[in-house]
Parts: sequence; structure tokens; C-alpha cells
Amino acid sequence: MELNNCFEEKKDSFIVQAEWIYETGKTRFSPAHFMSIVAIIAVISLMLFSHGCSSDVVEIIEEKDPYIYIAGSLQERETLAQALQERGVGYSMFMPVLNELNKLYDLRRLMPADSFHVQMDTLDVIHRLSYYPQRERIRSFSVYLDSLGFYVPSIDTLQVEMVLRKTEGTISGSLYSSLREFGEGPYLIGKFAEIFQWDVDFLIDPREGDRFCLVYEQYMLGDEFVKYGNIIVAEYESRNYDKRAYRFEIDDDHAKYFTSEGESFQRAFLRSPLNYSRITSRFSKGRYHPVLKIVRPHNGVDYAASMGTPVVASADGIVSHRGWKGGHPTVNGRQGGYGKTVMIRHNNNYETLYGHLNGYGPGISRGVRVEQNQVIGYVGQTGLATGPHLHYTVYHHGTAIDPLKMENVAGPPVPEKLMPDFRKIVERANYLIDTPNDEVGISLPLSVTQASE
Ligand SMILES: [Zn+2]
Repeated sequence: MELNNCFEEKKDSFIVQAEWIYETGKTRFSPAHFMSIVAIIAVISLMLFSHGCSSDVVEIIEEKDPYIYIAGSLQERETLAQALQERGVGYSMFMPVLNELNKLYDLRRLMPADSFHVQMDTLDVIHRLSYYPQRERIRSFSVYLDSLGFYVPSIDTLQVEMVLRKTEGTISGSLYSSLREFGEGPYLIGKFAEIFQWDVDFLIDPREGDRFCLVYEQYMLGDEFVKYGNIIVAEYESRNYDKRAYRFEIDDDHAKYFTSEGESFQRAFLRSPLNYSRITSRFSKGRYHPVLKIVRPHNGVDYAASMGTPVVASADGIVSHRGWKGGHPTVNGRQGGYGKTVMIRHNNNYETLYGHLNGYGPGISRGVRVEQNQVIGYVGQTGLATGPHLHYTVYHHGTAIDPLKMENVAGPPVPEKLMPDFRKIVERANYLIDTPNDEVGISLPLSVTQASE
């Protein structure tokens, strides 16, 4: 009981690797699937016919499901309306439904990997639309067509079962393609890569032959996959690296990964505050400025990324600036500099700056406390910039330092008073990950009440 509580998820504070999301969105109930069921029924009924049992058989065929089912999950930066349109649902059909849904669940909070399920009749009238947010544990949000023809919103408690599964294998190609081969979705792969991000850069380093293993939660509705939960324990092994990460809840809101000794897997600062395509300018004492056409020092790192890429806080801290920021001489009468900028003050006299943003993250204003990985803005090219990129500076005691070379201290360890609880977690996780029943999956159904928040 104690153990189960410790595994409960409180809040997802993870970012999903943007590149990995593009492959989400699969249809679980295709018309082909449905037709094959009808065909099977037809075959069975023919067999029954030949044995002279006719009257029941005709009814079986007539009882075929008259609805069309569409299911899928959202891709990066996709709205529910776009996802529905892409699957051929008409705008005039889904808009009244989404208006009702929005009363229950703020559709601006949609996240990649959130999934949905639509029941339509052959005239394209939606009879039910259900939405399963990834951040919700056991609630779904639905809109039903009632008998009077009105759309009625309702919050449903899913009769979901939480199942623990284990996946392990060896990398051939990339971590991404290897885990995809095991049937795992981008959301889970992103979470796995995040755990080891301080030690292993899966996007850059080829990792052929490395071994991975993870035990994670999966929510099932009968036989149907609903969504992923947390990764309980994860292991990564290469030639000179072999580490196991255990998930542990420090308090109600914070779960982090630790070594078996209780040391933090996380570093105080992220390697980079976004998923970037390349570094276009490094930290230097003097460089030629492409816009100003003079040689001047570059006090940070420029990361090229597409417009709108989320930028996250590289460490916990307090927002010290949010707004336009100069810092460069005026060019053509325009006050240039960093454009829309967020600055965050961190422990131990560190401060970070994120420049050229297109806009700010939700709730970001001066004085607000932010957590590592929280979205604080989006890549843009405001201020003095030749293209969309993030300018990132780290200051220590007020002096700019090279973020790519800075000493990165480990996050806080498991507090001494929680070590007895943590040791139990480690013991159980070791049992789960060392149990040799590879892909079969270790089933541990939780009741719905246990799974509630
Ligand atoms: Zn720059």
C-alpha cells in the first residue's frame, strides 16, 4: 500500500521531445477493422446456416454496430479541431461538440499525446466525443448527444487499470527507432531520454549496441491502451556507462529520479533549454556580429530552432525579468538587443537569460517561481536577430559564463529522513526490472480508487 502510494503520479512536468511527436496519432478503430469483424460474423453465420440454425443468425447480422469510430492522439502543436479535420470530421459537425467540451476542459491546455475517441453515425453526426488528457490520471472529458438532440458535457471516471510493463532491448540505429520497434510511443521514449539527458545525448551520439531497460505504467481500458503513466525505473548501459534511475516522490508535487544511493540524477541546470536543430554561435570573447557588422563578444550560446519551439527554464528559480530587453546599440533607430526576453534568478548566484522570444509561457511574469523544464517562452526572432533562434546566457555572480562549459552541480539528494522509504522503492524497482519476463509485461492492476488523486 505504501509502495503503491509512492508510485502515484501527481503532475507531469516533462517536456516531450518535439521531433518525436510527429509520429503520433494512430487510428485504433478503422473502418477496415470494423469490416473484418462484420466479415467474421458473416462467415460464422454461414457456418451456422449450413447446420440449419437460421432464425438467430439473421439477427446477428442486423445487430451490427451502425457507428463509425475514430481515435487518435494529438501531435506536437496540433489542436483537437485540426486533428479531427485531418481525420475527415466536418467543421460544422465538431464545432458545437468542441464548444461544449471547452466548458469542461480548457482546450488551450491540450498537450501532445493527449488522445481522443469519436463515435459518429453514417451521416457524420457525432454521438460521443471523449478526450483523454495525458496529464489526467483517471478522468476523461466527454460530450454526448442526448435523446433530444442536445450535446451534453460530462466528466467520466475511467475504469482504467494501471499495468506495469517492462521493455528492454539493444539499440540499433537510434534510441527512438529501437524503442519504436518494441511498439513504444514517442511520449514514453521522450520521458526515457529525459531521465538520462544529463549523461547521454540521444539526439547526437550514435549508441549502437547500447542496452536499455525500463519498467513503466500503462493505463488500459479493457484491452485498449489509454495512455502512459510514469517510468518507475530505467536503466541505460553502454561501454563505459551503466546507470539505473529510480523514480521517487520527494513531496506531493515533486517526483525525481535518483541513483540507488539516493543521489540526484538531475543536474541543477539543463544541458540546453530547448530542442534545437543546431548551435549557430558559441560563447566567445569576440566575434563578428552579422547584423551590426562589428566585432563584439558573444556572451551566450545561440540555438537555431523553428519558430514557436518551446523554451524551458534550465533550472528552478524566480523570474527576474519578462519583457523587451535592449543591451545592444540602437540599429536604424530601432532599439534592438535581445527583444522579448525572460531572465530567471537561481540559487547560488546564477541567473539565466533567454532572448529573441516570440512570446512568453503561460503565467510567466516577474517574481513568479518557475521549475526546471517549465515552459517560459517560445523561440522567435524579436530584437536583433537574423532568423529564429534562442540566445541563452548564464551569469554567475553577474558575469556571463559559457553554458556549454559550466560546472553543473547535481540536484539535491533524497532527504535523509526519507531514505527508509526510498530504500523500499529501490528494492521493489529492482525486483521489477530484474524479473526476466521481458515483453510479457508484469501486471499489477490498481483499483480505480487507488489511482485517483
Ligand atoms: Zn546570441
